[in-house]
Amino acid sequence: MTIKNSFFKLFILIFILIFFKTPVALAATTAIVGGNLVNLDGTGALLDSVILLKGDRISEIGERGKLTVPDTADVINVDGKWLVPGLMNMHVHLGLILPGKQAAELANESDAALALRMAAAARESLQAGVTTIRLPGDSRHADLALKRAIEKGQADGPRIFSAGEALSITGGHGSKKEGKANWDGPYELVKAARTQISAGASWIKILISGGIATDGGGLAEALMTPEEISAVIDAAHRFGAKVTAHSGSSKATSVAVDFGLDCVEHGYFLDRKTLRKMKKNGTWLVPTIVVSQPATQPFFVRIGSPEWYLKRRESAGKAHWQMLKMAIEEDVNIALGTDQLPAEPNDGTTATAREAQYYVEAGMTPTEALRSATIETAKLLGAEDEIGSLEVGKYADIVALETDPTEDIKALRNIVLVMKGGKVYRNDLTN
Ligand SMILES: [Zn+2]
Repeated sequence: MTIKNSFFKLFILIFILIFFKTPVALAATTAIVGGNLVNLDGTGALLDSVILLKGDRISEIGERGKLTVPDTADVINVDGKWLVPGLMNMHVHLGLILPGKQAAELANESDAALALRMAAAARESLQAGVTTIRLPGDSRHADLALKRAIEKGQADGPRIFSAGEALSITGGHGSKKEGKANWDGPYELVKAARTQISAGASWIKILISGGIATDGGGLAEALMTPEEISAVIDAAHRFGAKVTAHSGSSKATSVAVDFGLDCVEHGYFLDRKTLRKMKKNGTWLVPTIVVSQPATQPFFVRIGSPEWYLKRRESAGKAHWQMLKMAIEEDVNIALGTDQLPAEPNDGTTATAREAQYYVEAGMTPTEALRSATIETAKLLGAEDEIGSLEVGKYADIVALETDPTEDIKALRNIVLVMKGGKVYRNDLTN
């Protein structure tokens, strides 16, 4: 290569950098003006605020009049509305099929039909103000394909953190679904965990006790052996993946927590001793309390749940409720999750909003319940530097509400605007 040739290439490179970078540098700023920015520390809101965005992130926050809105900015007026971070739901199966009518209708669902049904559920979740979800077990890796499609802008939906396929053992919870693979013994389970991770999962979900929705073992029984549990957790952690366990059992949970389990789903029959151990070890709880409580009974009747399922739900309900109250008393780390679609209609609102309301009914303050759906949840995901609160540098995932949720959590029932990564996906306000 001649020197002249190198200089020419350098010139072309500088030319490209200057002329093609300019439009990005001049990208229009968005200003969200007039909202009351809710403080998650319970120290009151920043009233009549201005939030400036650069691209998909928050660049400046201040009071109207003190922070200048650039002339070129796209202005979104949210006068008098209450601004909270995008809601996060940590227990969602976008392809959920519960026993009943739906199970019969979807018996032979193709991969393509499943992916499209999940994409629709993802879009509805976002419309309901849920900008981040964690999927602890979906089928055929359609979840991972959808996650990538959303990241590429090919589909609308929340940010997705997924466990790929849940790891069930022969005869255990979730093992008898049609076409479901099961794994037994440490070696098979380690292989299964690595298979999920290499397909794109950042979580591993293990089913260590029985569940409500299937007849695979009692809710309080410890079905997976300690050797199996420890092998999976060790293998996942070596790849930087976190592990969550479906568990209603104190015995199973206690063993798994000793091995470094990151999170427990449901926790139906957990006793105080186990909850204290979780608190001490920093293990998270995702209560999914809506699955067992009276306010959501009409949902299960509506979807044609069989009698045995409704009975099983009811029998777990009281213990589940006591467990949640104890977990709040013991200050266990709690992140909101529903085990229903985030936007599923329940009790005049969505499953997500009803779940938060249940947390307040069980002893949380409204601010604590809001935190469990935002900043606490972000900590569970290890993503608190990017999402979970409205701060400079974080993604502009913002929900506007009619009223103040720190006064009454029912404010989550009246969402008027949803933004994810600086893009508006729902706006019921007339600007
Ligand atoms: Zn579930």
